[in-house]
Order: sequence, then C-alpha cells, then structure tokens
Amino acid sequence: MRDVELYRHLLGLESPWTVRSVELNLKEQRVDVWAGHAEGVRWPCPECGTELGLYDHADERVWRHLDSCQFLTYLHAQPPRVQCPRHGVRQARLPWAEARARFTTLFERLAIDVLKETGIRGAGHILRLSWDEAWHILERAVARGQRAKQPRVVAQVGIDEKAIAKGHQYLTLVCDLDHATVEYIAEDRKQASLDGYFVGLSESQLAGIEAVALDMWEPYVQSVRAHVPEAGRKIVFDRYHIMTHMGKAVDDVRKREHRALGAAGDETLTGSKYLWLYAEENLPAKHRPVLEGLLARPLKTARAWGIKESLRDLWSYTHRGWALRHWTRWYFWATHSRLTPVIETARMIQRHLPNVLTYFAHPITNAVSEGLNSKIQTIKKMAYGFRNREHFKTAIYFHCGGLDLYPGTHGIPG
Ligand SMILES: [Zn+2]
Repeated sequence: MRDVELYRHLLGLESPWTVRSVELNLKEQRVDVWAGHAEGVRWPCPECGTELGLYDHADERVWRHLDSCQFLTYLHAQPPRVQCPRHGVRQARLPWAEARARFTTLFERLAIDVLKETGIRGAGHILRLSWDEAWHILERAVARGQRAKQPRVVAQVGIDEKAIAKGHQYLTLVCDLDHATVEYIAEDRKQASLDGYFVGLSESQLAGIEAVALDMWEPYVQSVRAHVPEAGRKIVFDRYHIMTHMGKAVDDVRKREHRALGAAGDETLTGSKYLWLYAEENLPAKHRPVLEGLLARPLKTARAWGIKESLRDLWSYTHRGWALRHWTRWYFWATHSRLTPVIETARMIQRHLPNVLTYFAHPITNAVSEGLNSKIQTIKKMAYGFRNREHFKTAIYFHCGGLDLYPGTHGIPG
C-alpha cells in the first residue's frame, strides 16, 4: 500500500477527498499529509445546503491530527469555497474538523478524554500541546456543550457557595441534584448572584422545581422566595450545610481550648483539628485510637464533638415527628453545654427549623453535594491558571457541567 493510500485510510478520508502527498520528517518526528479533492465536485453551502460548483480555494490551512506511531501528524488542505446566491462566498464544510478548529475532530475528541482525566498540564504533556492549545480545546468543548444544551426541568436544586482564593471571594453554584451536575455559576453570593439563574428559567421550569437545598444564608433564601412558586415548603436547609456549621462550631471550641491548654504547656490538642471534623463513621481506622484517647478525657472539644455527632442522627429518622423529638432533646443539650460556639449554632438552626424539617418531605441526599464539592476541590488543585476565575468557572463546567463536549465526527470513522 502506498503511503498516500495508508494515510487516506488512517485519516478516514472519503470521496471526494483523498491524500495527495505525505512527507515524513524523521528529525522533527513529524508527518505532514496533504489532502486534496477530485475535480468537478459540487459542494453544499454550509448555511443552506444548496449544492454549488467550486468558486475558489481559501489559503492552505493545517490541522493537528492524532499521532501516527508517536510522530506528530498534521493534515494540510486548501478549503474549497462556494458562492451561494443567498449567502455569498462561503467555505465548504470539511469532514475532518469543525469550522475554525486548529485540530481535527478525532484529535479534539481524544484531547477531551485526556483533559477529563488529567487537566491542562497533564494533557499538554501527554498530547504535546502548549498550555494555550490545551486550554483552547477545553474552552471550545464547553462552549459547544452549552450551545447544544436543551432546557429541562431541574426538580431538585442544590445551591452552594464556593470560596475562591483568600479573603472573601465567592462563587455561587447551582446544581442539579438528580443528575449531579453544575448548572449555573455566578459571581459572589448575593441575592443577585442567584437571581441570575432563576431569571433564565421558563415558567414551567420554575414550576417544576420540587425542592431547593441550600445553606441558611439570607440572600439565597430571598432569591428563592422571590422566584420559586411555593418556596416556603420547598426550601430545605440540608444536612450538608448544617453539619458544616456544626463542624465549624466544634473547631472554634477546639481552637479556644487549645489556646487555653497551650498557655499551661499542655499540647493535648495539637494536630487534632481534622479528627474532630470527620463524621464518626467516616473516620479512617488509623485515626480511631487517637480520637478515642481524646474522647476519654474531660475535654470541652470532646463534648462539642459528641453534640455534633448527635445532631447528625436527626436525619436518620423517617418521620418528622420523631425527628422533632430528637431535635428538642438535642437543642436542650446543646444550649446548656456552656460552649458558646455550639450554643450559637444551635440557636441559628432553631431559627430555621421549619425549613430544616422540610427534609422529611424532600429527603435530599448529601452525596451529590459532597461529591461535587470534592470534584471542584480537585479542579482547584489542577493548576488551571487559577488566578483567572473565568478559567475556574469554565473548568467547572467542563468537569461537572454534564455537557456533551465532543465535536461531531461528520461521518469520519472513529
Ligand atoms: Zn447558502
């Protein structure tokens, strides 16, 4: 088989396209392939599909293709142009790449798969792309996915804030809890941040919302109340956020106690921060003896921890009435603990209790929020040029947006 035939097959080129020549450069480890087409072919206008004769050729362009045996492979061609009576002079669609792409469709598809696993730097390394090239593919994939996205009802909405960088900078994330996807990202955590999501929904999409899980954060609550019909019975202050507050209370108790003990030369609590924050059942086995040792001592932090773990049981009830009884006992215990951060958190939850107990009408699982959060944490670490928050948002949509990221193959065999 001549090398032009081989490459016609490797590239999957079909009539009227064919390979004209192949150039192998051993020193640079690259293969350049020139594609051309038969004469007298009629080309569809890319806008309306009307078949037209060749008008002229655009300048030669080059696309990076999948490597052949570790050789960088480039496809060259002069795109044919047509003159449509309705749309003027247009470039005919090419079977191997999307308009304006610098890579063939097959290369982009591979790059998207690699990017999903490794992020920009890893993909750049594996595919021999510059940071900008890899980023460009990712960004195009997100734009493509968002264009193709069909409006649908999100029945279980999760709202979350994400601290970015140091200081008080936040993003607001709206998630679909049934599909575990991030649907919308906005700057800040104001009422207006969330309004932007609801404003983009149709009336039937708004009416289709069955439950909204969120933190006890007034600007968000106001936004939900302003937009979602019957918000009062749909708002759920969920376990994930409440337990985060409770964890913070335990940590505040620990910090104060550690400071007091430290002043007397007692280092008991040194290095124990994360032991107290785990849910008891999630604590890695290797840490268990240390925690048990600490729990056996008369520590304020140990008491706060016990109160926190008991709160978690609230969500193990199946009936609202039983849960309420548990709450009443727990609230008495917490508010008589003489631990200020615990008392304050208990009171905050008490003020919001009706919409904590809506859980028993809408038993929202935390697995999705927790899963998305750890995924976003990973994205944060993936070296995305994170100082640029637009990059961070785009990367969240890429990894968590549930978008169809791939370019179509237009008949090229994959
Ligand atoms: Zn046309």
